[in-house]
Amino acid sequence: MANHSNGSSKDSFTIPEIKFTKLFINGQFVDSFSGKTFETIDPRSGEVIAKMAEGDVEDVNLAVKAAREAFDHGKWPRMSGYERGRLMMKFADLIEEHIEELAALDSIDAGKLLTMGKIVDIPSCIHLLRYYAGAADKIHGNTLKVAGEYQGYSLKEPIGVVGHITPWNYPSTMFFLKVSPALAAGCTMIVKPAEQTPLSALFYAHLAKQAGIPDGVLNVVNGFGSTAGAALSSHMDVDKISFTGSPEVGRLIMEAAAKSNLKTVSLELGGKSPLIIFDDADVDMAVNLARLAIFFNKGEICVAGSRVYVQEGIYDEFVKKAVASAKSWVVGDPFDPQVQQGPQVNKTQFERVLRYIEHGKREGATLLTGGKPCGEKGYYIEPTIFADVKEDMLIAQDEIFGPVMSLMKFKTIEEAIERANCTRYGLAAGIVTKDLNIANRVSRSIRAGTIWVNCYFAFDPDCPFGGYKMSGFGRDQGLDAMEKYLQVKSVITPIYSSPWL
Ligand code: NAP
Ligand code: MG
Repeated sequence: MANHSNGSSKDSFTIPEIKFTKLFINGQFVDSFSGKTFETIDPRSGEVIAKMAEGDVEDVNLAVKAAREAFDHGKWPRMSGYERGRLMMKFADLIEEHIEELAALDSIDAGKLLTMGKIVDIPSCIHLLRYYAGAADKIHGNTLKVAGEYQGYSLKEPIGVVGHITPWNYPSTMFFLKVSPALAAGCTMIVKPAEQTPLSALFYAHLAKQAGIPDGVLNVVNGFGSTAGAALSSHMDVDKISFTGSPEVGRLIMEAAAKSNLKTVSLELGGKSPLIIFDDADVDMAVNLARLAIFFNKGEICVAGSRVYVQEGIYDEFVKKAVASAKSWVVGDPFDPQVQQGPQVNKTQFERVLRYIEHGKREGATLLTGGKPCGEKGYYIEPTIFADVKEDMLIAQDEIFGPVMSLMKFKTIEEAIERANCTRYGLAAGIVTKDLNIANRVSRSIRAGTIWVNCYFAFDPDCPFGGYKMSGFGRDQGLDAMEKYLQVKSVITPIYSSPWL
């Protein structure tokens, strides 16, 4: 049985006041056109936190109109990169003044650990904004070698009106992964946050306005994917959709883009990332890394190390220590600083994870620890480890998005590489070894967008992040992400003015 905290130190926090529940369109908080609302839920209890304005087609139309106007005639795309960067820096400073409140909003909305929000999530959003603020005045074209008596240069221009559609597992980080490079590029935008976690996005919209980002540049339309999200991805006046979420919805977005104005699309989809631990690894360190890789953020993380491959020489010792370490992982109220794992984001996700666990048992995997809900209320699940998992089992192929580790034993490097690649996903992978040759060889052989050697979840705004295979295409982070929000234009002029020109 996992260690379930009784939440005794809960007195040390206050639940944040919910200040923003409407839509943010053209610099104003407004009710939805229909007047409808939806509930956002606290996963610690299943209780309603707030009723949010529910955006639909009409609201998306208004937001796109505002973003179009701000792009076609407004200051944002026309001001210098330096000036845009200055306003983004101001935006980042304002976030810094509200770290605690913003972290608390994500904790109550998504069941995320408050401490992690304060020291990791929100500071990393500030870092992202400042990184791209610094890039806003460094957008360069090239001089072109044109044959004949011509000269040419290329210009990089903002792509236009962007729709950002985000998931619920990292509400703040997802917002800034998308919004920061798009702002730096000079785009205007509409964000459709996940229905489960709309609270922090609205707070950010408010701070953007306070920072002086002009009306219409950053709009937020809360609502459901099948209505507001679909309206955005099929809109004729949206030039690009930047999406993070599931492969199923990624397909729908590509279809909508294809059937409307052929807007460009970038997709960050899920993963089933392998963590490969070699015989020469320090077993205690490897166990800690494996535990972090799958139980951090309750497994609701697209790069979770959900398939753990351990070489046969250390397998038995690893299994014993991994089980003990999962049992000592503290599950409980995410506002309690002692807690390491909060509740799954909602009932649907909670039940989905439990169904996968039942499936794993039926498929013949050995349940070593966990496997059950815990706590008296809310959506808590015990850290769970399966051994004897085979590649063709559903729990080894599907992204569970929960605290479920699949353990597998391997013999040779070749076998590890082949089995690690044996999935339709390719988002990330981890390697634990002291042997540089193994690390290099395996890094180059795994078809995934990020490889962590002797570490996991090491992110930085400067490291491009995205998927191979069905984990999607296009990169967030790094200067690569800027390219998604830029067009390239060639300008060619004659060098000599010929008499007939
Ligand atoms: P999801 O169902 O794909 O939803 C993602 C976003 O798309 C939400 O805002 C959703 O709105 C919206 N959406 C749903 N249907 C839509 C439609 N027809 N048209 C346009 N937008 C639509 O994913 P999720 O359940 O939020 O998140 C879990 C999944 O996301 C997991 O599979 C995970 O792998 C993936 N994920 C990937 C990454 C990554 O970086 N690669 C990061 C996080 C999560 P609603 O909320 O209203 O449904
Ligand atoms: Mg919620």
